[in-house]
Amino acid sequence: MHRPSPDIYASEFHALVDGIITDLKQVAVTDSNLAIYIANGHGAWEAVVTNLFSPHDSVLVLSTGPFAAGWGGFAQSLGVKTQVLDFGMQAAIDMERVAQTLIADRHQHIKAVIATQVDTASSVRNDIKGLAATIRDTGHHALLLVDTIASLGCEEFLMDEWGVDVAIAASQKGLMLPPGLAFVYFNERAMRVGAKAALRTPYWDWNRRVQPDEFYQLFCGTAPTQLIFGLRESLDMILKEEGLANTMNRHALLARSVWSAVDAWGGDTGTLQCNIADHSRRSHAVTAVHTGAPFGTQLRHWLSSQAGVSLGIGLGMATKTDPAATGSFRIGHMGYVNPGMLLGLLAAIEAGFAAINYPRGRGAVEAAAAQFAHLPLDYDLQKPSPTCCIDT
Ligand SMILES: *Cc1c(COP(=O)(O)O)cnc(C)c1O
Repeated sequence: MHRPSPDIYASEFHALVDGIITDLKQVAVTDSNLAIYIANGHGAWEAVVTNLFSPHDSVLVLSTGPFAAGWGGFAQSLGVKTQVLDFGMQAAIDMERVAQTLIADRHQHIKAVIATQVDTASSVRNDIKGLAATIRDTGHHALLLVDTIASLGCEEFLMDEWGVDVAIAASQKGLMLPPGLAFVYFNERAMRVGAKAALRTPYWDWNRRVQPDEFYQLFCGTAPTQLIFGLRESLDMILKEEGLANTMNRHALLARSVWSAVDAWGGDTGTLQCNIADHSRRSHAVTAVHTGAPFGTQLRHWLSSQAGVSLGIGLGMATKTDPAATGSFRIGHMGYVNPGMLLGLLAAIEAGFAAINYPRGRGAVEAAAAQFAHLPLDYDLQKPSPTCCIDT
């Protein structure tokens, strides 16, 4: 990225962007349309709402943490009616409740269902394939809109095969870049449903950003040149150097390594534990951990001041007895992370727990290391593999 600015009118730069669009579609395994915005994830939220809806349209928001609700909040503040099904901070979407709600909507007022694949605060991983099937099985025609900001490039996401109509992502998580690019994938069905959206504004209009007559319209102005250079590199890392399946494998392994450490630290005390109990619904990109107040905050302070490590705060974890959410923290293991980095982090946490005198089980770092040691011998992170070898 640290390069002179290119000529944004030259054909080399246009060809670079064309290649990036093709490859971004590969990461989401889709042939749908893709609009790229100079924005963070919140920009993608607004882009989708304005391209699809008119005031008084209805959406169903499936909340498993603050992020789907945040997206729904944007819709609501633009005049869209939102119905929220709240599954709390410790559980995945309950398909039964979704089905009941859609079946009860006999006149099909609900235009779209909003969900996150991974909620970055609760670290839950929702079953998007199952959700798409659930909506289809009810016979409801609502679109499925999925926030994959924390999961694209980390978790398997088969947009077309599963039947997702709109997916959003951003540059700064699994795609390993600075913030500044937002991606909106949308299929023909979404384009049709949104054709008469009264909320559409010129800058966010996705129609202008796909197959424009002039390259200049692709970004509705100057292209984000340096971020595009960076994105070329991160897409090469994912698709060519490691391979998409291996990238998913690595994240599945890193996550299992973290969970083993947390299990060992927790022992039978039951105080220290992962926020999501069900392994199959845990994110491979981030893990929220409970320590009991105020140890999460104490640990974070020790690590940042003594070990040069920033742990995530316990986002959305405030309770009546712990209003400042000092009893939890999060470990991000998305994107540019390898076993060495992760084991270093877990050992630093071990040191932090010792420093704050936190009662815990032994053998956490060993348990985490064992996850990598048990890999099949033909597993090679440097050789792209066509399939996932770890059950995700
Ligand atoms: C980070 C994140 C967002 C918000 O992205 P910003 O770039 O901070 O606007 C939205 N949804 C999810 C799931 C996220 O992880």
